Amino acid sequence: MRDVIQLLPDHVANQIAAGEVVQRPASVVKELLENAIDAQSNSIKLVVKDAGKTLIQVIDNGVGMSETDTRLSFERHATSKIKEASDLFKLTTKGFRGEALASIAAIAQVNLTTRRKVDELGTFIQIEGSAIINQQPKAAPVGTTISVKNLFFNIPARRNFLKSNSVEFRHIIDEFHRVALTHCNIAFSLYHNENILFQLSPTNKRQRIVQVFGKKTNEKLVPVQEHTELIQIDGFILKPEFSKKSRQQQFFFVNNRFVKCPYLHHAVMAAFEGLLVNGHQPGYFLFLHISPDQIDINIHPTKTEIKFEDDHTLYAILRSTIKHSLGQFNVAPILDFNRNPQLDPTVEQLNNNTPSTPRVQVDQNFNPFRDASPANSLGSSNDWQKLYEGLQSNEPTEETMPIIKEDAPAICFQLQRKYIVSSLRSGLLVMHQNRAHERILFEQFIQHGNGKSILSQSLLFPINYQAIPAVIVQLKELQAILKSFGFGFEKWTEDSVHITNVHPDLHQDRVETFIETLLETSEHQGAQSKDFLHEYLARQLAEATAITSGTNLDHASQLGLISSLFSCTQPDRSPSGKPIFVTLSPNDFEQKFNL
Ligand code: ADP
Ligand code: MG
Repeated sequence: MRDVIQLLPDHVANQIAAGEVVQRPASVVKELLENAIDAQSNSIKLVVKDAGKTLIQVIDNGVGMSETDTRLSFERHATSKIKEASDLFKLTTKGFRGEALASIAAIAQVNLTTRRKVDELGTFIQIEGSAIINQQPKAAPVGTTISVKNLFFNIPARRNFLKSNSVEFRHIIDEFHRVALTHCNIAFSLYHNENILFQLSPTNKRQRIVQVFGKKTNEKLVPVQEHTELIQIDGFILKPEFSKKSRQQQFFFVNNRFVKCPYLHHAVMAAFEGLLVNGHQPGYFLFLHISPDQIDINIHPTKTEIKFEDDHTLYAILRSTIKHSLGQFNVAPILDFNRNPQLDPTVEQLNNNTPSTPRVQVDQNFNPFRDASPANSLGSSNDWQKLYEGLQSNEPTEETMPIIKEDAPAICFQLQRKYIVSSLRSGLLVMHQNRAHERILFEQFIQHGNGKSILSQSLLFPINYQAIPAVIVQLKELQAILKSFGFGFEKWTEDSVHITNVHPDLHQDRVETFIETLLETSEHQGAQSKDFLHEYLARQLAEATAITSGTNLDHASQLGLISSLFSCTQPDRSPSGKPIFVTLSPNDFEQKFNL
């Protein structure tokens, strides 16, 4: 037999290695920004087109490269940052693996122009899929400009795998934040599709956080500081009352490198214990400095994970440091954690003591219990129908099967302002009013979104919604679908927008939470599927606007709810999958009485 092993050609090996380094446009952004920082730049500009899919360009004013280094920098394991293995334990640079440029050049079209101060003329090089296409001397300012075009142009499968622009851009913003927060002494700017999103001048840590997350952040910050032999901690936490559901403002930096560290996150959570509303996340920006021989950053190729030599001690120090800050700055709990806001009376209710009856849309023509033919919208596939099978056995005619007679006012009443109880001809129906209404609205909203008439009400006072530029960009991309649900927007700026219209049933107080939950979900879901978003919006809106438990309903509304529910295509489950009603048959009663 012949030998079968052969060495992979370089460009193939590079493509494989690239998979490890470059998962998405944001990975390229990270590597290029880090290279610019390692090159001692004090001003770095990032230019992105189409969420990095078309172009990622980084312009720095760092030390630049010689002609030979320019060529070499694209070789695998070519680095100026370490010379021997022991250097790994005294790293001060971001890069050291010498893999980023080689990887990027394997899967994109790269142009690089660079000049050192000592050189009169700079160097231009053009590489495509690891092959040098062009190299020549070129006049250029001191520093380096690198452009990465058409990422994964030669690996269509990877390119197709990229998420929507809003998701990919969100990742880019995350990387940009991380780098900008760590290096407050460097000026950064970010352009996306010709719009300038950030222009950050050199400043201190606190002001950089404010530059990135907005002016309002300043008053939310509580300083944290502790210096021990093992570790130096400084940075800021957000006052607990500004905690949010999202984890977007959680940052650990170890020796000026952003890291993910579930263990230390846990220490922070422990310090915040009892101060957060259920499900809310603390915000923190913590800069840890620790001797490089106490950590191992090499356990992950993209270097966001980290191992500490003595993590137990670190945990304890971090937890007590944060507790101390929380205590010192008098950040005491002011929230009532056990309250269900759904049960709080609204201002309206407090103002006029008699609670008004919510409107319920009634399908006047529908009698759910008159006709069980397949033409009826009850649909033969629904399990709930089986519930009735036993009930009609004594009375075989079509006439007598129903529970509520069309001409006679049906018996129904409210139980604990939560359930609606109605008599079945032979038994009882107990319906959860909130879930029933959610289901009814959900199905209506789904149809609205499908081109049916849209309910929209303009607000007397538009809501000035403020957020970081990245979130505004994301919101803009969801504009069209939100409009189909009755939302209206005006006066877009980089970090704010006026919400002028909402669905009439969405309470003004709930609009911001509604939007934030939506943004977060669309991010996690990749916003890829329109249908998903559509359904999600319909569900959210239904949940936000449905009659709540604890609401008094008059007789007509009770009847209306029952009738409308059973004209839904899926009356047995709420949009989030919970049961809506139970039925009790005479058999059920008999069993109870025979105990
Ligand atoms: P690493 O950063 O791990 O060394 P890279 O592939 O990212 O590996 O870069 C290879 C080398 O190219 C670096 O070690 C550095 O010498 C040089 N280099 C890359 N980007 C720049 C830049 N923006 N300015 C100056 N030199 C750079
Ligand atoms: Mg690098």
